[in-house]
Amino acid sequence: MIDVQQLYHSFKIGKKGKENEIPVLKGVSFHIHQGEIATIVGKSGSGKSTLLNLISGYISPTSGKIVINGIDVTHFNEKEWAKFRLDHLGFIFQNFQLIPGLTTFENVELPLTLKGVEKKERQKRVMSMLERVGLNEQIDHYPNELSGGQQQRVSIARALITNPKVILADEPTGSLDSETEDEILKLIKELNEEKGITFLMITHDQEVAATSDRKLILHDGVLKEGGVLVEV
Ligand code: ADP
Ligand code: MG
Repeated sequence: MIDVQQLYHSFKIGKKGKENEIPVLKGVSFHIHQGEIATIVGKSGSGKSTLLNLISGYISPTSGKIVINGIDVTHFNEKEWAKFRLDHLGFIFQNFQLIPGLTTFENVELPLTLKGVEKKERQKRVMSMLERVGLNEQIDHYPNELSGGQQQRVSIARALITNPKVILADEPTGSLDSETEDEILKLIKELNEEKGITFLMITHDQEVAATSDRKLILHDGVLKEGGVLVEV
């Protein structure tokens, strides 16, 4: 499902001609099976977001290989990534990243519009998804008229509306209080079981890591214990 082989990534920093290379990932390999919930844990600055950005195609690896859904995405250009993300991936962010000028309905509808799904079909799918995540009464609310937990439900609905097989999440409960965090984790777990969606989530939170099937511990640019996955 997600196959990462010998991934290296360095950032260049400093003035042109005098750049320093900062190695962040130094040979990361792992395999996540379909239907698993996996978490990436590690100290601040250990390269968790860098790893997720590589798997999302927002940055390119220095070397290594990334295969998602059996498709080698390592050398995709920007256009190929844009299409691949729309067809195969869903995203959830710590700060929700909803569009402020769009209602709940419109935020969730947007990926379907981008995919060219016709209006009647969009209406049907969005309404059913909003019902599933418990937002039937907030359809016409704007993001600033929703609580943090409700906003994260909208963003989960938006991530799922195109039926992706993989959801990538950077600290999805990082901005929520602990009660709301439990609610959102429960929803993620249910959706994982109902739809067999693979979740790869970054977290600082032991509680989130404890709910996952696999824990990837990033330390000094490699996965701890020689790159072997640590089963929870
Ligand atoms: P984490 O998400 O685990 O906190 P990051 O992946 O954001 O860590 O960052 C890992 C390291 O890479 C840090 O030392 C950070 O300063 C550095 N880094 C991240 N993004 C960039 C960038 N765009 N340019 C230069 N260095 C970066
Ligand atoms: Mg980060």
